[in-house]
Formats: sequence, structure tokens, C-alpha cells
Amino acid sequence: MSRSAHPAGPRHADVLPEGHYSAPPADLNSLDPKVWSRTVSRDALGVVTVGGIDVKTLAEDHGTPAYVLDEADFRDRARAWRTAFGADADVFYAGKAFLSRAVVRWLHEEGLNLDVCSGGELATALSAGMPADRIAFHGNNKSTEEIERAVRAGVGRIVLDSFQEIVRVAHIAQSLGKRQRVQIRITVGVEAHTHEFIATAHEDQKFGIPLAGGQAAEAVRRALKLDGLELIGIHSHIGSQIFDMSGFEVAAHRVVGLLKEIRDEHGVELPEIDLGGGLGIAYTSDDDPREPHEIAKALTEIVTRECESARLRTPRISVEPGRAIVGPTAFTLYEVGTVKPLDGLRTYVSVDGGMSDNIRTALYDAEYSVALVSRVSDAAPMLSRVVGKHCESGDIVVKDAFLPSDLAPGDLIAVPATGAYCRSMASNYNHVLRPPVVAVHEGQARVIVRRETEDDLLRLDVG
Ligand SMILES: *Cc1c(COP(=O)(O)O)cnc(C)c1O
Repeated sequence: MSRSAHPAGPRHADVLPEGHYSAPPADLNSLDPKVWSRTVSRDALGVVTVGGIDVKTLAEDHGTPAYVLDEADFRDRARAWRTAFGADADVFYAGKAFLSRAVVRWLHEEGLNLDVCSGGELATALSAGMPADRIAFHGNNKSTEEIERAVRAGVGRIVLDSFQEIVRVAHIAQSLGKRQRVQIRITVGVEAHTHEFIATAHEDQKFGIPLAGGQAAEAVRRALKLDGLELIGIHSHIGSQIFDMSGFEVAAHRVVGLLKEIRDEHGVELPEIDLGGGLGIAYTSDDDPREPHEIAKALTEIVTRECESARLRTPRISVEPGRAIVGPTAFTLYEVGTVKPLDGLRTYVSVDGGMSDNIRTALYDAEYSVALVSRVSDAAPMLSRVVGKHCESGDIVVKDAFLPSDLAPGDLIAVPATGAYCRSMASNYNHVLRPPVVAVHEGQARVIVRRETEDDLLRLDVG
């Protein structure tokens, strides 16, 4: 997708950008439960509350911008995934979506496992008490030092991503007198994105070992020979923000095909198959994500069917949702600074954050929703673009949205579904301080990642 998918924009207020809301929503004050976390509603005064606390109180106590995370919703979603997949499968939360020690504890309590892909994520997981055997270590370029730490800690699995890494991990495990459980990540020639997938013979990307040309089979051959490794399964991750299950269907078919080859060649039935993450969420009212129980049912059926026809025992399935668990559980709370109407175009609404707290719009052309949350308004809708305070014209948070035309400096607005890949991809561009993550639960707000301070910035700058 192009980063400038809407180059011209509307020339007149009555011409709306293609592919966006064709008309303003009937009620600007309504909060679509698809995009807002589960405890969000408006109180009697029209102020939005979450976890029993209103956003004005949150802004006063914690400042803006702030990521506000609904703990009950997070736990509900984690539990729903766990329950949907049951005792014969494992759910690994993809830590890169958003990781903090509080989140690690919630996941542990709810019975989920955890994916990490760097020494920093591993350190966070271990320091919050996640048992090492419930951690999977990913990445296409894990350093020797990271591998050593992971093996020493006793992580449940390392997902091998290259021929060199097979040897590297085997060598390190052996030198530590260990046998490391590993999976091999393969690329099956399926690229899934939202409502489509593309099946190709090979994939031109940095992750995994291609199934094409017998490379994955060769990787398995090598891994099975090495004393330092215990090969437990095959891993495949096909994309992100996926709604359509047919990409998983093709991927599972190809992975099971490899399992069959392995059985035929080596007489070994590998006990596990990991189908990765990438399940989509609703960023706007136009998105219709599936529930975890539907996804679990579909994936289990696909794998079972494929294995039956290959006469293989059905392996233990694991999945790795990140966005689908944390994404919908948080919104970003901003204060409106400047409101700039551009005649015949749209109104630019500037907030006190921007691409430093949400890079996804600039990076992926992502779409978001937005609402006025500190009050209700009966004013007419105005076509708006929510922008940040950075020195970059691409510093856009929400490209096209309707906000009430009486919007004024000091109003609070919120962008929902920012739980995934926002704080975790946040930067200090323009020396802006990264916002806190405030978890709310049953009337209590608790800072789980504090706001950065200028002292934090200056501490790294050693002069
Ligand atoms: C990013 C990633 C995930 C999680 O993706 P989501 O879109 O957040 O569900 C899972 N597995 C692997 C290997 C990944 O790289």
C-alpha cells in the first residue's frame, strides 16, 4: 500500500476522501463498542469514563497525552483466547505489540505464554516472573549474547530463523550442556493482509526459511542431527491485521505437507505447529474482526483436516496474537491545542502528541477513529484531520474523521484501539517525551509505564 494513498484529498467540503466514511456518523457522541474498550461509556454529564474513571480526572491526574489501558478488557480478551484454544493448544501473546511488567503478570495469571524477540523483551518478561519455559524467543538476528541468555534462562522454545542460527543455537546450547527446544520458522509463500492473501511460490522477505526449493526440509535435516537441539515443531507467521482465514488455510496445508515429508524421510512426527499471529482488530466501524472462539475453531479444523488427509497425528497447535489482545484495550487521550479550518478542505486539529506516540498512520497508512471525550456536543460535524506537534507534515494521527464543529482548545479527544504497536513503537522525535501507560480497573488508575521526563532525556545525553 502506498504511503500517499490519498494524495489529492477533498477539494470541497462535500467531496469526501475515497474509501473513508461516506457520510458523518448519525451521532458524533456515540461510541462504537467495536473500536472502544469494553468498560468505556459516557457518564450522566457526557464525559467518557473507562474502568469507572472519567477522562477529565485521568487528564488532571496523569496529564496528556496518555495511553489509557482497560485492564478488565485486557484480561477478558487474554482469557477468551486461552479458553477458545483450550488445553490442547498454547496461546503466546506477542510481546512486541505492547510489553510491560504489569502486562506480563496479567498474562501469567490468565494462563498465557509469551513471545519475545529481543534481550530487552526477555529481561522484562523474566523480571515480572514469567516462567522461562512459557517464553518463546523470536527474531531474525538474535545476537549470540541474546541466545546465550535465553538458553541459560531455560526458555521454552527458540524459533530458529536461518541456517546460521541453527548452528549458532546448537553450539551455544551444547557448550552450556543443554538441549534447547526449538521450532523452525518457515515461509510458506503466503502473504496475508486484511481481506486478501497472496499465495506465491517463494517469499521475498527477511524472516524464516523458505519452504520453496526444499530449503525448509534441509533445515529440518540439519536441526535433527545436532545434539544441542530438540526440534519440536514448525512455525509460520503470514502477516498482520488479517480478517480472512483462507491465508491460514493455505499456510496450514503447506506446513502439514512439510510435517508429512519429515515423517516420510526421518520417521519423526514433530509434535507442534505454530501458526503465528496477525489476527485483525477494528480500528474503525468498517472493520469486522472475528471472535477468538471462531478463530480457534477454524484453525483447529483446518489443521485436523490436513493432518487426517496426510495420516499424521494432529500436532499441538500454538498461536501468537498480539494486536488482537492488546490493541482494542487502550485509547490515547490527547488535549486539543490548535484548531485550524482550511477553507473548502478540512479542519486541522492539533494535539499534544503525534507521530512520536503513534507512528502507524505515517508508517502504514493506518486508519483510526477519534471522538470528543470531555463533553458531548450537538454541533454539526466537521471533516477533520488530527495531527501532532512534530516538525513533519506527515505527522498525522487520524487522516479523516468527523469531529463536532465547536471543538476548541482544551477539549479532550481520544483515539481508540491504540493498545498495540503505539507505545511499543513510540519515539523521542523532536525530544518529545513518551507518554505514560495508565491502567484503569474498577475505579482505580495505576501508572504501569510512567511518562518520560526531561531528566530521562538528559540522562542519556552524557555531554
Ligand atoms: C508480530 C508477530 C506476531 C503478532 O502479530 P499481531 O499482528 O500483533 O497478532 C506473532 N508472531 C510473530 C512471529 C510476529 O512476528
